[in-house]
Amino acid sequence: MGNIAVVVGAGIGGLAAGIGLRRAGWKVRVVERAPVLDDAGAGISLAANGIRALDELGVGASVRKAARGQYTGGTRTPGGSWLARMDGAALERALGAPIVGIPRATLHRLLRDALPPGSLHTGVEVTGVDHSDPGRVRVRTRPSASSAVPGDELDADLVVAADGVNSRTRAALFPGHPGPAYSGSTVLRALTEPLDLDTDFEITWGHGAEFGHIALPDGRAEWHAVLNGPAGVRHADPLGALRGRFAGWHQPIGRLLDATRPEAVLHHDIHELATPLPSFVSGRVALLGDAAHAMTPNLGQGACQAVEDAVVLAAALARGADTDTALAAYDAERRPRAQSVATAARKAGRIGQQLSGPAVALRNAALRLAPSGLAVRMILRHADWTPPRLPSPGSVTSLVE
Ligand SMILES: Cc1cc2nc3c(=O)[nH]c(=O)nc-3n(C[C@H](O)[C@H](O)[C@H](O)COP(=O)(O)OP(=O)(O)OC[C@H]3O[C@@H](n4cnc5c(N)ncnc54)[C@H](O)[C@@H]3O)c2cc1C
Repeated sequence: MGNIAVVVGAGIGGLAAGIGLRRAGWKVRVVERAPVLDDAGAGISLAANGIRALDELGVGASVRKAARGQYTGGTRTPGGSWLARMDGAALERALGAPIVGIPRATLHRLLRDALPPGSLHTGVEVTGVDHSDPGRVRVRTRPSASSAVPGDELDADLVVAADGVNSRTRAALFPGHPGPAYSGSTVLRALTEPLDLDTDFEITWGHGAEFGHIALPDGRAEWHAVLNGPAGVRHADPLGALRGRFAGWHQPIGRLLDATRPEAVLHHDIHELATPLPSFVSGRVALLGDAAHAMTPNLGQGACQAVEDAVVLAAALARGADTDTALAAYDAERRPRAQSVATAARKAGRIGQQLSGPAVALRNAALRLAPSGLAVRMILRHADWTPPRLPSPGSVTSLVE
């Protein structure tokens, strides 16, 4: 058949995979169940590892241009005192880039724009994959708008399952895996209207609660409020509920809430793959992004890891070995790293946002006594990653379209 790939899901991971596979000379079809890829979502931060991976995909420059470097700020107590300072300049000196903040919608658009027209198919839901024939995968699809309309079957040499934390593909391929687990925390977040902020980035830890913001290039900001509590609780007036929960916390928290339109607030319960997968590959299906390793957002690494996955997969396929060997290399390279970042993110949440009771004072005292530069060193542990090289654009004869 040739090098034909179907990517399931057009999130950050699926789009990055589509770009990478094309660079590796594959013909790619990205199928997404959402009928329209609208500009929903708040903001996202990307550390140097994610930016370097985007550089390798050829979109790093446009992402940097549309993003804002997070140079100032840090971690605070609800009273406003500083527990740790962010030193974006030190990160930039060490890694070539500070952490950057960008609206999710902008990042999605830049990734979509890097795919050729016609390779992204929206409104198409994947309902199953059959990989009983060695070396082939049959993908069953149907139009998402109507389950009554018969769907298509697509034949592929490779399927990339980038269908997110609730991946149906993962559930089908690993029926013994328990699937995602509720992390114990729920998150409300939004993009604000433009406002003046003194810092680029802040996180404030109270008892079982975190409020953070990322300043964006156009004067808006993304804020998030992460709270311990049961899943499924929703508020008729989310901004009112947050004003109550964060009453008495330092500014700019109140100002960020005041600069937010009620309809801009998103609310999600945070799930993660607490039980690591035994493999990121099954036959000719590669799992990628949250489908493979959904993690809590405490290190801001989920999307960065998804983009790393995409580059490593594409580079393994571009090396010219057979597809099965390339997939084995992808699993061997990606699984230990992504799963260790996921473990670190869970631990960061437990000593950060989720901590409550007397342990909070102990943690805060330890952070105040920690040598300066600790925050930078913690970020370097995960952000100092160098992607493998992809063939330069045009150097591989693409089988596309
Ligand atoms: C509150 C919060 C803050 C975060 N902040 C950061 C951060 O600052 N930095 C960072 O790096 N990461 C962050 N993350 C993590 C990051 O958002 C995710 O890791 C990343 O978006 C995962 O991308 P993905 O493409 O793997 O999955 P998704 O974005 O979930 O995309 C999956 C796509 O697949 C589609 N799909 C699903 N099933 C099917 C099907 N059957 N057929 C067709 N299509 C299907 C879905 O519609 C969706 O478009 C954060 C996460 C949360 C919850």
